[in-house]
Amino acid sequence: MRRLMIAAAFAVLAPAAFAQERGFSPAIESAIEEVNPRLIAWRRDIHQNPELGNRETRTAALVARHLRALRFDEVRTGVAHTGVVGILRGGQPGPVIALRADMDALPVTEEVDVPFRSQVRTTYNGEEVGVMHACGHDAHVAILMAAAEVLARRREEIVGTIMFIFQPAEEGAPQGEEGGAELMLKEGLFRDMRPEAVFGLHVGNQEGGRIYVGAGGMMASSDAWRIVVRGRQTHASRPHEGIDPITIAAQITQALQLIPSRQINAVDTPVIVSVGRIRGGVRSNIIPDSIELWGTLRTLNNDAREDAMARIRRTAEEIAQASGATAEVSWDPGNYPIMVNDAGASERGADAIRRALGADLVSPGRPVMGAEDFAFFANETPGFYFRLGVNAPGVTDAASNHSPRFYIHEPALENGLRAMLAVALDRVAPNAFAATAGAGQSGE
Ligand SMILES: [Zn+2]
Ligand SMILES: [Zn+2]
Repeated sequence: MRRLMIAAAFAVLAPAAFAQERGFSPAIESAIEEVNPRLIAWRRDIHQNPELGNRETRTAALVARHLRALRFDEVRTGVAHTGVVGILRGGQPGPVIALRADMDALPVTEEVDVPFRSQVRTTYNGEEVGVMHACGHDAHVAILMAAAEVLARRREEIVGTIMFIFQPAEEGAPQGEEGGAELMLKEGLFRDMRPEAVFGLHVGNQEGGRIYVGAGGMMASSDAWRIVVRGRQTHASRPHEGIDPITIAAQITQALQLIPSRQINAVDTPVIVSVGRIRGGVRSNIIPDSIELWGTLRTLNNDAREDAMARIRRTAEEIAQASGATAEVSWDPGNYPIMVNDAGASERGADAIRRALGADLVSPGRPVMGAEDFAFFANETPGFYFRLGVNAPGVTDAASNHSPRFYIHEPALENGLRAMLAVALDRVAPNAFAATAGAGQSGE
């Protein structure tokens, strides 16, 4: 009886004891609590005023004003068109790390019914479109602004330097322009100050508040290609007097699907080839001279990428040749490499997030065939990129990123802030975690 009572008392105490093991020092905790309502307000403001890639002037001004108010050592604007880079030096010298948020929105007309819904319209590649933060970059900016505030307030505790990268044009620059992470690096972002690690996060339609982590190739390379099939124009009733590029384009379209399914080991080597656009011809009774196919190749390792590129070329050229036509394969500029999470940086970062949030809120993440230009940063220095679920509680069928119905359950964002702080503090202020945090790890 007595024993039972002790057991019961322990059971009541256990969760409380566990709760103390996660989180940060009281000073950081109160800074998080204080900044959190403004994180939400910033996110709503940015959401209501979305801007396309290389046009993020209002967002950049908001960010720069904030970093200057926090008395950052350096605030550079106009980096790679509209990017903002802030440098925060701690109380003592130490390692340099970089935290990154992307700022651009998409040409999508918002269908989410919230009071801060975007009504913005603009012209994109000659078409009038709505503009929406359909990929959640509004949340990324707000989270990094909040992290900047918490870290700037505790700068005396920081041993090292933090580079805050507010990046334009992650979704790709407008036609004919350069942009994004690649241009920031080309302009010398890491030339004078090379971080020992770079961190970034992305929101998505997964369990709200949960962090998804992984190492290795986590996001695919993205290579856009074009194939021009040239035949010979003729009357549609006399096809034998010409060379029909339409039937050849149809064969190529089909044969491209045989590359991932019949030619490459589907178990070890995920490869996707998709045709997104076929264009050519003007009317029903003319077989045209040429047809254009546009598509994308996605892979998760560099050997597969090279191999699949060669196979796409060979497939198109030889199928065309078989009918007496030609196929010219070209690869668009502005492609993204594979986003590889460094093994050491990922393990260490995931550990830090577990200490901050508790191991029960951190799950393994699966690689996806989407692309992400954080890959350029992670190619330069060890990178760790993780995902934050933003579904409302109980929702499992939420619309994905890029949907006009993409929705962020705002209370989930605090865990994004906590995770971002965790990976940073682990490097530059390891004592900023809750006192008993270390003890909690071995039990998980
Ligand atoms: Zn996106
Ligand atoms: Zn995105």
